Amino acid sequence: LTRDLYPEVKRGPYAVLASSHIQTFENLLGKDRVITDKDELIAYNKDWLNMVCGHSSVALKPKTTEEVSEIMKICYKEHLAVCPQGGNTGVVGGSVPVFDEVILSMSLMNKIHHIDIDGGTVSCDAGCVLEQLDTKVAKEGLMMPLDLGAKGTCQIGGNIATCAGGLRLIRYGSLAANLLGLEVVLANGEVLSMMNQMKKDNTGYHLKNLFLGSEGTLGVVTKAVIQCATRPKSVTLAFLGLDNYENVVKTFRSAKNHLSETLSSCEMMDAGSMESVMRLGLTCPIKQNRFYMIIETHGSNLNHDEEKMAAFITEAVDSKVVADGTFTSQPSSMLNLWQLRERIPESVVRFGYMYTYDISLPLSHFYEVVHETRKRLSKHGFSNLPVFGCGHIGDGNLHILIEGPSYQDEVTNLLEPWLFEWTVKHGGSMSAEHGLGFKKRKYIGLGKSSSVVDIMLSLKKQFDPTGILNPYKVI
Ligand code: FAD
Repeated sequence: LTRDLYPEVKRGPYAVLASSHIQTFENLLGKDRVITDKDELIAYNKDWLNMVCGHSSVALKPKTTEEVSEIMKICYKEHLAVCPQGGNTGVVGGSVPVFDEVILSMSLMNKIHHIDIDGGTVSCDAGCVLEQLDTKVAKEGLMMPLDLGAKGTCQIGGNIATCAGGLRLIRYGSLAANLLGLEVVLANGEVLSMMNQMKKDNTGYHLKNLFLGSEGTLGVVTKAVIQCATRPKSVTLAFLGLDNYENVVKTFRSAKNHLSETLSSCEMMDAGSMESVMRLGLTCPIKQNRFYMIIETHGSNLNHDEEKMAAFITEAVDSKVVADGTFTSQPSSMLNLWQLRERIPESVVRFGYMYTYDISLPLSHFYEVVHETRKRLSKHGFSNLPVFGCGHIGDGNLHILIEGPSYQDEVTNLLEPWLFEWTVKHGGSMSAEHGLGFKKRKYIGLGKSSSVVDIMLSLKKQFDPTGILNPYKVI
């Protein structure tokens, strides 16, 4: 963490935090919500991957939109750079300062304002933790439309700011479809209220969607209205083993045909991912295979859904497309099986340094890139580094994880921009759902015309003319 990660990045011409600033913040928030203790600040300054680390000397913890607005007014006037932070579970280094930016932690902005049962919506503060929101809406028969491995820590504001995808996008759609309303504080402290509650609102430009994936560079998300799904009465889950990638694709096709309206998730892990996650003491319920899939259904009639799932598995096994498998509708068994997928990144970070890539690719090239990555590393003397592939195959989204004993520039330079260029050349996106943050900002132009990037730059200037919001990130 102490090494100079990005020597080519120079600190912008922002003001340096002074004791008078701290005093002003303390007057606004009180001493206990202005964190200046060095030890306490470590958790705010570094990301969970130990990939990026800033050296901010203050983290502010507002509780209301008005407080966020006042903080931004002060920072705007004083030309202090600001890094908005949600649950700090992001993987591209967007959520921590690069230098000494003021950290704006949203963790105390965690009120749920309203749940509309008939409309199926929840209005809440940006700092609500995704899993806690889901538990609350569950009591009303609703479900948050997104789910991800980081749900116990990530916040809805962070999810919006990264336009997070997750495990069930195949069924419930992206946040672009489920974000109904938004409140944002702009760089100058102005509050932009767009808290629409309705599914349909076609009154002018869909401005709120501009903040999806803006990663804290256009405004601070303070409130949102989210369209929830009806909570399924029946959930079934199949855990399958397959001999080769071709059979993974065949199984995905067959799942869509057999399970159609009930299919809620389709995930893939390769053998290396499974070996990695089992180091956490988890057990794989089937014999060793080259590939594994999790196929989940959400429905309203357990007998009907189990019948459909059984017919799908029987055909897949009879036609020898699936080598082995198990299926369950027991909540505790499903939870255990999900851990085998959700905890893969944790297993890599626990035992080494994780180089992580998150790409979209057409299924015809989906796994080819894992072979290509292995070949490239071997050719340059890094055959010792294991390369894993897992991800949301139902959405064409692959995570490539490479485990090393420690970080090496040489490995990064071998993979970047080669991997991104390979992906774009094969019709994909170099960042499927994690965003650009600090780590990938250089590649914003890959696969986009310069006029698109120019318009993004002019939007950034319009919303944040002095560039104080999350500098060095995205653009
Ligand atoms: P942070 O990490 O704190 O911030 C992320 C970015 O958003 C930063 O640029 C930050 O400045 C900005 N930001 C945060 N809050 C606000 C706000 N209120 N206003 C403005 N900007 C803000 N991502 C997926 O898309 N799909 C997955 O399936 C997925 N799985 C994951 C699994 C694990 C185990 C982990 C650790 C991460 C996973 N992620 C996944 C990545 C990450 O969890 C998501 O990007 C998540 O949406 C980040 O939310 P957060 O609250 O932690 O935001």
